[in-house]
Amino acid sequence: MSKSEDLFERAKRVSPGGVHSPVRAFKGVGGTPRFMTGGNGAMLRDVDGRELLDFCMAFGPLILGHGNRRVGDAAVAAIDRGWSLGTAEPYSLALAEFITRRIPWVQSIRFVNSGTEAVMSALRVARGATGRDLILKFDGCYHGHADAMLIRSGSGLAEATEPDSAGLDKATLGGTLVAPLNDEAALDAIFARHSNDIACAIIEPLPANYGLLIQRPEYLRHLAALCRKHGALLILDEVISGFRVGFQGCAGLFGIEPDLVTYGKVIGGGFPVGAYGGKRQYMELVAPAGPVYQAGTLSANPVAMSAGLAMLEQLADGRMYTQLEVLGAELERRLASIPGLTVQRLGSIFWPYLAANAAPLRSLGDLKAKPAAPFGPVFHKLLDAGIYLAPSAFEVGFLSAAHTAAHVEKLAAEMRAALG
Ligand code: PMP
Repeated sequence: MSKSEDLFERAKRVSPGGVHSPVRAFKGVGGTPRFMTGGNGAMLRDVDGRELLDFCMAFGPLILGHGNRRVGDAAVAAIDRGWSLGTAEPYSLALAEFITRRIPWVQSIRFVNSGTEAVMSALRVARGATGRDLILKFDGCYHGHADAMLIRSGSGLAEATEPDSAGLDKATLGGTLVAPLNDEAALDAIFARHSNDIACAIIEPLPANYGLLIQRPEYLRHLAALCRKHGALLILDEVISGFRVGFQGCAGLFGIEPDLVTYGKVIGGGFPVGAYGGKRQYMELVAPAGPVYQAGTLSANPVAMSAGLAMLEQLADGRMYTQLEVLGAELERRLASIPGLTVQRLGSIFWPYLAANAAPLRSLGDLKAKPAAPFGPVFHKLLDAGIYLAPSAFEVGFLSAAHTAAHVEKLAAEMRAALG
């Protein structure tokens, strides 16, 4: 029995499924999850001392690689000063000012502890601002695990049939409308039917939880225009894309101004941070400034805030995104030449879809074959060859500043071998 098998047996006895977030358990690929002891640069290290080339990168936060020195030093310095204060403090102020100075539509921001919390809070603000109840989401978009969002979501639930979870509040779910991606006519019909009742539309501007379904900017602009016309707020969920496809996320890339935006992952440098922000008129509704309640004992934790600032300081001049685009393009070129593989990519986010399919893939309907079936064996061949992908056919891959052309070449070579 390997050390990971032994640890997994023990973990299953004390935690559900042996993990603390479902996709980590390898249910989507079979076998036993590798227990990792650490990471450095582009590499993960498992309990048996084996080094693995990591393309999961903690599901997105580590855009500068594992163990980025400046982020680590900032966290250690914050620990030395005191790691939880529960008071007003200057560290969250520094991060908030850093962001609001660089992203015009984020005029005010509130830090929370996860993407889920950011989304829950933004939805509450939208309902509070409009006095309306309905929320429009999109088929295959994942927004964390708040009840209202666990319907036709992706990520660990990508293959589920409705409802996405037991234990959901049906009344809450009844307030969620679901639209297909990439379909203007469907949007028109939904807004026509529910014109005065939709509090907000929430969308991943780069849907990245059911593979990678890159939207047409015109489609997103159509959605923004409909929201404006019908008095609904537009929430862009940039938990994955924020500070990842560019400092200003997809909103900046596509030129779409959201009313509210949610962040997670990169914003905390790999520490537990989420945030929601947006136009001042809406954010001023949040307690204690306004009547929409939202709070958190550990919110704006000084260690996480300091790490997040050290991360964003290394990204703000945009050079990192240029470097990642070059590497991403190289990865796309190499993967695209492999028969039986369709590759989707934006910047440093990529999705190897193990099917021959005409790109572009923009909605669930565009996927002609089930991604899950062939993925498990390919995942394990890559793992044996020293490559770690996220253990699910529906999760995207991430490049970081620590990845090199040689790493990309290795992935392509092993992928070709695994598929051949
Ligand atoms: N929104 C999006 C777009 C996400 O991808 C995720 C998580 N992958 C979330 C929200 C939820 O974030 P968290 O897991 O930090 O709660």
